[in-house]
Amino acid sequence: MKDLLNKLNQANRLMNTANNTANNVKRTKNSVERLGSDSKRSKQQKSAEKQNEWKCSCGKKNVSKFCENCGKSKPVCSNCGAADTGAKFCSECGTARS
Ligand SMILES: [Zn+2]
Ligand SMILES: [Zn+2]
Repeated sequence: MKDLLNKLNQANRLMNTANNTANNVKRTKNSVERLGSDSKRSKQQKSAEKQNEWKCSCGKKNVSKFCENCGKSKPVCSNCGAADTGAKFCSECGTARS
């Protein structure tokens, strides 16, 4: 009888160890996901900055609405107001640049 109790205790201990390991795995997974989303966020921020970038007719590259060099306003599509990326047609609505 005592032997059986000992075996039972041992089994319980093993179960606890297994549970702890599972919790550890969960925790690790969470921190990995956090790390992953962090790097994703900074990447998105970078590409957003790139998208906002425009080149003034004076040659200066800007991210704000006005040229830092000559003060000209950022060129936008006359139809939809999307940023003029310098392409012949608006990337948002397809309107030809004037
Ligand atoms: Zn300029
Ligand atoms: Zn447009």
